[in-house]
Amino acid sequence: MIPSNYRGSRIIVNLEAITTNIKTEINRLDETQELFAVVKANGYGHGAVEVAKAAILAGAKGLCVSNLDEALELREAGITEPIIVLSFVSLDYIKEIVEHNITVTAPSLEWLTELSQIAENSVKVHLKIDTGMGRIGLYGKEEMIQAKELIDSNDNIMIEGIFTHFSTADTKDTTHFERQQERFVEALTILGENVKYIHTSNSATALWHGAWKSNLIRYGNAMYGMNPSGHELETPFHLKQALTLESEIIRVKKMKSHEKIGYGATYETKEEEWIGTLPIGYADGLIRKFQGYECLVNGQKAEIVGRVCMDQCMIRLPEKVEVGTKVTIFGLNNGVFNSVQSGAEHVGTINYEITCGLTDRLPRFYTGGN
Ligand SMILES: *Cc1c(COP(=O)(O)O)cnc(C)c1O
Repeated sequence: MIPSNYRGSRIIVNLEAITTNIKTEINRLDETQELFAVVKANGYGHGAVEVAKAAILAGAKGLCVSNLDEALELREAGITEPIIVLSFVSLDYIKEIVEHNITVTAPSLEWLTELSQIAENSVKVHLKIDTGMGRIGLYGKEEMIQAKELIDSNDNIMIEGIFTHFSTADTKDTTHFERQQERFVEALTILGENVKYIHTSNSATALWHGAWKSNLIRYGNAMYGMNPSGHELETPFHLKQALTLESEIIRVKKMKSHEKIGYGATYETKEEEWIGTLPIGYADGLIRKFQGYECLVNGQKAEIVGRVCMDQCMIRLPEKVEVGTKVTIFGLNNGVFNSVQSGAEHVGTINYEITCGLTDRLPRFYTGGN
């Protein structure tokens, strides 16, 4: 989808917030620990290239993405820092991996075996250990013993890192987290710790578990100023939300009492009401469940009434406003703030899914950059 520039709906990303969220975390680390900025999925919807550049200026030593295309996007933008692909990359693309100096993840013994058969010893590999996520990585003692043998007997394999991913680092209950810790320690006894990077820390592990056993921190959600736990755990320092989502009033009218609004006629005015229309809808990522969510207009709440359409939605205004008046869906409006988290709670999901779900139809603008 092309960005709709001739329309008053946009994402504004405050790069200064990203900088602050990174610097504050770096200050909590020691000098042996490096922060890598996670910019997968177009920087959680914020724009991968712009966020990556700001993150590097703020002190990030490298970047993490999810797939090879995302890594190449950063290289094409001129970024030369290390880039780790955290998920699977087929070795069919070994040429691209080598040519662009991309660090890849070994997701299985099969993949590692395939790599050993390719005469290419310059690929930096991080070994993933599945300690309790059930997703990718070496699983169980036997696989790790075999991997160790393969690595030791093969000059084609260059292991730069060993890592795992925690599934519950953002919850009060640490039972499963501790189980994963035990399994990672066990993995390290088999594989050895003689690698440049050992890492376990996503944002949550960095925030609440002292970046346990990590000299590389994979810093994602918190960098964007969101709380990975939602509101279950309080963050140890204030995170500044980078994202603003705003639209504007394109039509405003005073409607009579008992008028229906939107598809399905699910909303009926209770009295005479000022109703404004916005040029944003579910095709922008403002999903239909946002019906009932309160946007901000002139520092006042304005509820989305009726079903959200594909390209438009309607809000109930506290008073008459002019066409062109700014409407803030997330962010600050006249001193009143809507968090992405409040939107996530309204629609019953996590903050990550809200920002990732904002589509390319929304143009992205940047403030606070150098
Ligand atoms: C996405 C991802 C991260 C970043 O997680 P946040 O919770 O956003 O900090 C870290 N590690 C892996 C393996 C990931 O997939």
